[in-house]
Amino acid sequence: MALDGNAIGGMLLEIFATDMTSAEATCARCGAVRPVAEELVYLRGPGTVVRCRRCTSVLMVISRVRGLNCVDLSGMEALEVKAASD
Ligand SMILES: [Zn+2]
Repeated sequence: MALDGNAIGGMLLEIFATDMTSAEATCARCGAVRPVAEELVYLRGPGTVVRCRRCTSVLMVISRVRGLNCVDLSGMEALEVKAASD
């Protein structure tokens, strides 16, 4: 069952040290632009998978390897993060 990006808000905050749920992800496959909070999230391993809500292409994969968080963003064309001071 798919969750949404809010389900991994805490995990993303830990990795990126900023709120990523409002960051806008551009899908490399279909070009859809949407806040991470609204994308599809699958927590059942291996790793955490974020998929495009429009075309279900994989946008982001977060896996934990030997205590390190590995983040694969290759499914995104862009990830725009709002500056914390704004
Ligand atoms: Zn897409």
